[in-house]
Amino acid sequence: MSALTLYPWQEPAWRTLMSTLESDRLPHSLLITGPEGVGKQRFALVLVARIFCQQAKGEELACGCCGNCLLIAAESHPDYVCLTVEEDKTRIAVQQVRDMIGHLGMKSYRGAEKVALVYPADAMNASSANSLLKTLEEPTDRTLLILVTARPSRLPATILSRCQKMEIKPPGREAALDWLAKEHGGANWGPALAFAGGAPLKAVELNKAGYAARIVSLEQQIGAIVAGRADPTTVAFEWAGKNPALCLEWLKMWTGHLIRGRSLGTLDISLDGVDGEKLESFIQNIELKMIFKYMDDVNRAFRLLETTVNKQSLMEAVLIPWAHGLKRVLPIAE
Ligand SMILES: [Zn+2]
Repeated sequence: MSALTLYPWQEPAWRTLMSTLESDRLPHSLLITGPEGVGKQRFALVLVARIFCQQAKGEELACGCCGNCLLIAAESHPDYVCLTVEEDKTRIAVQQVRDMIGHLGMKSYRGAEKVALVYPADAMNASSANSLLKTLEEPTDRTLLILVTARPSRLPATILSRCQKMEIKPPGREAALDWLAKEHGGANWGPALAFAGGAPLKAVELNKAGYAARIVSLEQQIGAIVAGRADPTTVAFEWAGKNPALCLEWLKMWTGHLIRGRSLGTLDISLDGVDGEKLESFIQNIELKMIFKYMDDVNRAFRLLETTVNKQSLMEAVLIPWAHGLKRVLPIAE
């Protein structure tokens, strides 16, 4: 039994990769992408173990007990190198890349593939990326370079064009909620999952940091303002004093959802504590251009958080409009 397993939503990507591995068509360089919180790094590690495993066949994962699997588990396989940001550093240094290239150029110790993993690949600076490019242009036989990143757009186009891409997509909402409830208990995962852009592992992280419960309460507070049960000034006081960045981040996400729903005519939105029909008519009564205007204000408020601006008035400016059906937005001075 392998120590590392795949997440269920990674299985389609795994099957695709395994069929290329079986027919000996693995590329020299593979770029694993997908949003934060879908387990890209885990996927890459499962792949590395599978490539070296002496037992696994077809779509099977690494056996976890052959000689190569044990070396991988002990992080001491001589034909594998993992490159990441060193402690106290923010970027992958060019010297690290050069060392890795030197390693890949040497003869394989165990007579098979050599594999290098770079994570997160967007942490390479321009000279690191340039150095790596040379390897991509002249790949050594039986080497595989795996780059992992949530932000492929930060990599030079010359690197992107030389890699085969494998995207790990988040599961659908229902599947993600089922998985979260099964693996992490039956909390109210909906708001955290939405805030995490559908990525289950990010929702778990938010929950661990105590944010999941907070996100539920943010939704309830907006609901209470909309329903006239809460005073926006009082809510603003709480938002200003307790992680205002998270509050505005959530508001941005929620307003974005509103804009998409209204523009596409597929409004599927709920607010804890507000009757569905009432909410629907409340939202249909808002002019779309006012929601866009409001979104600009939320973005402006987010930028101003870093300044010495009075956070109470900033939060009032984004909360009071909800008490008036977004009929007018309050000016936010920069
Ligand atoms: Zn094995």
